[in-house]
Amino acid sequence: VQPEPAGILTDEGGEGQTQKVLEKMRIESELKQALVSNEFMLHFQPIMDLQKGRISGFEALIRWNSPTRGLVRPDIFMGIAEETSLIVPIGKWVIEKSAEALKVLNHRYRQSHPEDEDLFMSINISGRQFHDDEFFSHLEGAIAQAGVKTSQIKLEVTERIFMEGPSALQAINRCRDMGFHVALDDFGTGYSSLSYLAQFQVDSLKVDQSFIRSMLQDEKTFVITNAIIAMANGLGIPVIAEGIEIEKEHRVLVGMECRFAQGYLFSRPIPLGDALNYVSISNDFAETVNAS
Ligand code: C2E
Ligand code: MG
Ligand code: MG
Ligand code: MG
Repeated sequence: VQPEPAGILTDEGGEGQTQKVLEKMRIESELKQALVSNEFMLHFQPIMDLQKGRISGFEALIRWNSPTRGLVRPDIFMGIAEETSLIVPIGKWVIEKSAEALKVLNHRYRQSHPEDEDLFMSINISGRQFHDDEFFSHLEGAIAQAGVKTSQIKLEVTERIFMEGPSALQAINRCRDMGFHVALDDFGTGYSSLSYLAQFQVDSLKVDQSFIRSMLQDEKTFVITNAIIAMANGLGIPVIAEGIEIEKEHRVLVGMECRFAQGYLFSRPIPLGDALNYVSISNDFAETVNAS
């Protein structure tokens, strides 16, 4: 991994607004080119079912391998893609590639685990993508083209979507009517109000990794994490904990009755080839965990 060059990517130093705007414009045109030149890649991070003790699905995470900048983190370039309309074509590419990947992952999984349920694929969706008139027809077409079921796809939206008002909520309901699962990502970090959880339905809730990161050091965070999981369980919404890195976090989350988890303890996000190996060798992850 090459170090990121200075400029907007590091957001440091007293450079002027003009420099920042220019840098943003440069990245925008590089992102356009990246789509054409195939510089994007997807990595897949396993999501574990803590109750069944095995893998249940993957989250697709985009990577940009820029010829000049090296590997650029998605939370930086996807922010710029969101501010421009580029999120629409990039988002379409992500949907198509992750649906195709799910098809082959399930094919491989079936060979070693014939009696288990199919794996799901979580895809991050930005609120801006819903503004595209073609979003739903493209989504439906891509899923059909790949030969996977809508119920095997989890669309991850963040709490920020609530700020966009009723149209975003309608879009989420429409996704659910089409059979997709919807997960609320980075839960607990945004400005959202708990009342939204009463007003509309989600299929899972992802507790942000900042909670997991500090729950063992900080008593208050521990209590809040426990309460979020208890509340979601009470509402019948399964919880996915993000960013589990150590065995103790895993044990504590099982104690809190958290159903799903993802994190470096189980696996980092990995290329498709590695993910295919992962599903064919991983029986129950007790082995994976003990080996790490
Ligand atoms: P996210 O959706 O919350 O994804 C989880 C992030 O946590 C990923 O970062 C993942 O690599 C990281 N992570 C997972 N387990 C651990 C762990 O144990 N420790 C630590 N320190 N980190 C862990 P990543 O891949 O850098 O993605 C960052 C964000 O970029 C994502 O956060 C998501 O908001 C956005 N993003 C990534 N891919 C896409 C995409 O295809 N579309 C959209 N719209 N956004 C994306
Ligand atoms: Mg996510
Ligand atoms: Mg998240
Ligand atoms: Mg995040």
